[in-house]
Amino acid sequence: MPPACLLEYTRAGLAELLAGLGESKAFRATQLMEWVWKHRATDFSQMTNLPPALRETLAANCCLRPLQVVEVSPSSNGSATRKFLSRMQDGHLVESVVIPAAVGRDGGHSGRMTLCVSSQVGCAFGCKFCASGLLGFTRNLTAAEILGQILAAEEVAGERIDNLVFMGMGEPLANIENLLRALEVIMDPQALGIGARHITVSTSGNVPGLQRLAAFGKPLRLAVSLHGACDAVREQIMPVNKKWPLSLLLPALREWNRTGFHKITLEYILIKDVNDSMEQAKLLSKVAADLNAKVNLIPYNTVDGLPWVRPAESHCRAFRDALAAARIPVTLRYEKGHDINAACGQLRLRRTARNEHTP
Ligand code: SAH
Ligand code: SF4
Repeated sequence: MPPACLLEYTRAGLAELLAGLGESKAFRATQLMEWVWKHRATDFSQMTNLPPALRETLAANCCLRPLQVVEVSPSSNGSATRKFLSRMQDGHLVESVVIPAAVGRDGGHSGRMTLCVSSQVGCAFGCKFCASGLLGFTRNLTAAEILGQILAAEEVAGERIDNLVFMGMGEPLANIENLLRALEVIMDPQALGIGARHITVSTSGNVPGLQRLAAFGKPLRLAVSLHGACDAVREQIMPVNKKWPLSLLLPALREWNRTGFHKITLEYILIKDVNDSMEQAKLLSKVAADLNAKVNLIPYNTVDGLPWVRPAESHCRAFRDALAAARIPVTLRYEKGHDINAACGQLRLRRTARNEHTP
């Protein structure tokens, strides 16, 4: 059995885990929680108020860091956005991106240190424009591996992370069990204590996952990768639309709205001659108005080996203006991190092949 990673336990969970290891004193769970989160302990030997025998038992059965940073790519344009690569215990690699003073896709909570978190190795949804989709699906990340990225990011940034966007590799709602488990710890004031309004979950439209996330009942921010305002256009670039077409997705989003959380953000990559016609702009305005949603337009980030082209800046502006004229809150954003392939949708494990030869 792989060691239990302490990151994915709430205090109640730690109490149970400790009881299973023969430690029944309730205050030990609180002490352990403090070591893990308040002190960000990386080794059991640091836990000086725990009896040595308990420290040894914990060291033999549990782990504190499920992944290790193996590479950090600094941004070359001085934006301080940094992508890092971490290796998990089974040797698989995962990428995450630290974005200071976020101008991320969550609407830009400026002044916050944002992490773009991955939820899977690869992705099964195979969107035709996406670097992660090109990889195919390898496996879900555990809750501990999702949480481990946050601690790793703090080491990379030298600061606490206080804003999360689930926009890295993978479809978070296809890994809903581990996502919810990680969110419990992320929001727990005794652990990371990041408020729901500082957490954005991005989905390509996984309807059952959306229903589970709504039932979770927390005021998270939701971003939906729409990228096409009618089935015919969406289907061309997002195979997921065959399984959950707009006739299923839009009612699920209306249902999400009934929970009274924040406005949904509709993400819309602009790809030349695919989804950037003025007719799509009109249809998109209708969808956004119906959902009372805001729209985030993202000029396509080029991915090596894919044929898609970013429209001219003037065309992107005209598309934005059409939405604005229909009174839809809309942003057009050129992203940080494009230069190091760290912009959303560009995450791809360039080192995968090398890693296969690593013991
Ligand atoms: N699977 C989830 C979250 C990860 S992708 C989702 O699809 O929403 C994060 C965002 O990056 C999504 O909106 C995705 O559509 C977008 N994206 C993918 N490839 C891109 C590219 N080449 N250029 C710009 N955005 C891209
Ligand atoms: Fe997966 Fe999202 Fe990429 Fe689509 S856009 S392949 S759902 S990561």
